[in-house]
Amino acid sequence: MKVRIDEEACIGCGVCADICPQVFEQTDDKAVVIAGANCDEAGCCQEAADSCPTEAIIIEE
Ligand code: SF4
Repeated sequence: MKVRIDEEACIGCGVCADICPQVFEQTDDKAVVIAGANCDEAGCCQEAADSCPTEAIIIEE
């Protein structure tokens, strides 16, 4: 499972980093996927994607 963030859609709300800090990191105004982060190990990417208010988190199987 791979994850990425649509930078255009992300509003930097910080929800994903709160839910899944192993994978997502909040920067000044956007969230980013932490380099080398593993969604399968973290087990919280789907919850973060479901909770993103702008559906900016894209999960690719
Ligand atoms: Fe961006 Fe969505 Fe994360 Fe909020 S939850 S910081 S909008 S990717």
